[in-house]
Amino acid sequence: MKFEWHTALWNRRFGKGALPQSILFTAMRGTGESGFAERVAVSRLCAQPLPDGDACGVCDDCRWFAAGTHPDFSRLDPEFAQEAEVTGAEEDSAADKKKARTQISVDEVRAAADFLRLAAHRGRARVVLIHPAHVMHIAAANALLKVLEEPPAGALFLLVTSQPARLPATIRSRCVAIALPKPTPAQAAAWLATAGLQDADLALAQVGGAPAAALALGERYWVVREGLMPFLTGRDRSWLDAAARIVDTDLAHLVHVLQTWCWDLAAARFHGSVRYHRDRSTELGRTATTVEPIELADFARQLTGARRLLGHPLNPKLFAEDLLMSYSRLLPKP
Ligand SMILES: [Zn+2]
Repeated sequence: MKFEWHTALWNRRFGKGALPQSILFTAMRGTGESGFAERVAVSRLCAQPLPDGDACGVCDDCRWFAAGTHPDFSRLDPEFAQEAEVTGAEEDSAADKKKARTQISVDEVRAAADFLRLAAHRGRARVVLIHPAHVMHIAAANALLKVLEEPPAGALFLLVTSQPARLPATIRSRCVAIALPKPTPAQAAAWLATAGLQDADLALAQVGGAPAAALALGERYWVVREGLMPFLTGRDRSWLDAAARIVDTDLAHLVHVLQTWCWDLAAARFHGSVRYHRDRSTELGRTATTVEPIELADFARQLTGARRLLGHPLNPKLFAEDLLMSYSRLLPKP
């Protein structure tokens, strides 16, 4: 997918000429980073690239790539796999599915390595795209390192991450790191408008300005956020009622809303401004005066821990109740 804020980088480094064999793209999450890696991948698979180096979009290779069936392309991406799984097999246990969705396993890396040992079906590159690269299991990272040390001819590795520090230094040192630019607020808003999102400014604020992340929030995010508002602002004090509205698939939304809300409470208290929930600045300002900063900091730490647990099997009901009960303790007694 093409994004305006990548144009200069594309023209400078990707439009023409050879590429390093292993590239580590670093980017702010949700700014089109996997789209850029896909653009690079398909440009190397396309039978008749355009003069600017982009894939033509109409040849057999481009059509196979778009359909997810190109024989010389391998994608290791748990988030992408999750979308494909919606209509997939049901026999796996729920715990196994959760694991598969949040980590890249050693088996997946080994399968990609086997795939690279075969000659390219189409006589051009063989491309492996790994996103987000920092969710590789340690054994997977070690298996990848072996391949990166002696890469097969014609192989191209595209690793994408928003958290390069979470990758082993040995992997990073085998790749050429390229930082992807992030959009200006105007570019991000324009892109979201084209994508048909209403109230782009508020959506962008919720995710710190990352347009693809704003789009990915989805309708349910807004339902969760609105459902929490009476509780967060202290109008409705029942954490049990608030938790009852949260279902299994909402937990990431819940943690996101609570983290950004707490950030805003601190900002409202100390700076008189808010960053994320700009449409709620009045309520944030009022609530902030009733919250003890030390207790707010403790709760923020609890949320950081909760975020780490999101990918693991847990009891969703207890998880939500625990967080919302802790938040209710921040507010003054009714
Ligand atoms: Zn093509």
